[in-house]
Amino acid sequence: MIQDSGLVASGGSTPFDPRSPTPESRMPELTESVTRMIKEIEKLPGIGRKSAERIAYHLLKVDKIEALALADSIRAVKENVRYCRDCFNLAEEDLCDICRDPQRNQSLLCVVEQPRDVIALEQTGSFDGLYHVLLGRIAPLDKIGPDQLTIGPLVKRIKSEAFEEIILGTNPTTEGDGTAFYIVKQLEGFPIKMTRLARGITSGSDLQFANKEMLADALQGRQSLK
Ligand code: ZN
Repeated sequence: MIQDSGLVASGGSTPFDPRSPTPESRMPELTESVTRMIKEIEKLPGIGRKSAERIAYHLLKVDKIEALALADSIRAVKENVRYCRDCFNLAEEDLCDICRDPQRNQSLLCVVEQPRDVIALEQTGSFDGLYHVLLGRIAPLDKIGPDQLTIGPLVKRIKSEAFEEIILGTNPTTEGDGTAFYIVKQLEGFPIKMTRLARGITSGSDLQFANKEMLADALQGRQSLK
């Protein structure tokens, strides 16, 4: 029995047969929609033409509900996900789950580059404070200056809230160090303890690639900056 894949072969009314092991060989000419899908998939990072074609053929083969679940999930993310009003982490409401959690330690603030760094640190289970996501790092070579990051709101937040310690958790790269240094300079003269994650993480690497134990150690052994 031919499943309803919601597809018909180009140029005829014969339903596309999802059981065909090599749909490529049955479709020497791509339809306009398929070509468009391949082009869209090819724009994704790390995906070349061949991979894009493989994914496209996979989506052609799976049933309509499964393929549309992917389309719907992309739509839901783009329509519902925004940056948290306070910390710029990903959120589906004004505030992210972490900022809304009254159990979090309100006196500790960890500054990271990207929302994925929040996830990496959360997975260690060693940090119960709040975060601030910079949405990048200062990178003069890529023409990214402090104004393109959330450093302004960060400084405002530190000056208006009762934090006791700011942990600079930018990546241990030249740019991550430079960004941390810039933030320290912005708060010069402001009486607050500032620390940097310990060098447990390999220099030059990203927080997101560090394993849980290494990150937990880096948090534990953080060093005072002033
Ligand atoms: Zn938040």
